[in-house]
Amino acid sequence: MVHFVGAGPGDPDLITVKGKRLLEHAQTVIYAGSLVNPALLSFCPEGCRIYDSARMTLEEVIRVMEACHEAGQDVVRLHTGDPSLYGAIKEQMDRLDELSIPYQVCPGVSAFSGAAAALGLEYTLPGISQSVVITRMEGRTPVPEKEKIQSFAAHQSTMVLFLSTGLLGKLSQALVEGGYPPDTPAAIVYKATWPDEKKVLCQVSDLAETAEREGIKKTALIIVGKVLSGEAYQRSCLYDPAFTTEFRKGNGQAEDGK
Ligand code: SAH
Repeated sequence: MVHFVGAGPGDPDLITVKGKRLLEHAQTVIYAGSLVNPALLSFCPEGCRIYDSARMTLEEVIRVMEACHEAGQDVVRLHTGDPSLYGAIKEQMDRLDELSIPYQVCPGVSAFSGAAAALGLEYTLPGISQSVVITRMEGRTPVPEKEKIQSFAAHQSTMVLFLSTGLLGKLSQALVEGGYPPDTPAAIVYKATWPDEKKVLCQVSDLAETAEREGIKKTALIIVGKVLSGEAYQRSCLYDPAFTTEFRKGNGQAEDGK
C-alpha cells in the first residue's frame, strides 16, 4: 500500500494524527524535500529508508514504490500541505493503477489554511465575500485560457494565489485589469506556520515592491480581497439570538435590534 500523506504547511504539529501514525510505522518514506519540513522525519522509526523526491523523477518515485510493493512493504509519500492541491498526485496514482498497486490518501492542512491562521483571517465574511478562488499565475505549468486571473478578478471575491511569488508585477496588473480596485487589500504570507514565518499586508497594486522590500521570493501565498480590509461585515445568522436553527430556538430579537 502507498499512503499519500499531507504533511501540513510547515509546523510539524500540524500533520494529522493519522499521518503521524503512518510515519511512525513507515518502512519507506518518499518526501517532497523542497517544501516538507524535515523535522517530520523524526517521527519515522529507526531504519526507515528515506528518499527526497526533489531529486527524483516521477519514474524514479514509482520504481521505489514498485520495489517496496514487491517486497510486501508500505510506502509513505509525504506531500506538503494537502496533497490534492498542486501535489502532482494524480500522475502517481494513475501509474499505481497501471501496476495494480493499492494506495490511499491521508489529507493535510493546506498552506492556505496556515496562511489564514497566521493572519487571523476568515476568508468568507458575510456581506463581503462568500467564495475563495484558489489559483496560480501561469508559470512553466500552463493555466487554461478560461481560468485567467482577470476572469476570476471580475468577481472581487477572496483570492488565494499559490506558486506566484516570482510573478507579482504581472499578477498586480492582471488583478487590476480584471476588476479589483488597485487599493484592494492584499497580504503576502511567507512560510506560514514555520518558525521563520513572515506576513505582510499591502495592496493589490504594490505586491511586487512589498515582496522585494521584505526579501520574499518563494514559499509564499498571496491573499487578495476585502476580507483583509477590516471593513464592517454582517454577523452570522447561525449565532444570532433571533435566529432559530435545528439546535437552538431564537428569541425573535436580534442583538443589534434589527
Ligand atoms: N499542496 C500544497 C501546495 C503545494 S504548491 C498545499 O496544500 O499547501 C507549493 C506552493 O504552496 C508554494 O510555491 C507556495 O506558494 C505555497 N506554500 C507551501 N507551503 C507554504 C507555506 N508554509 N506558507 C506559504 N506558502 C506555502
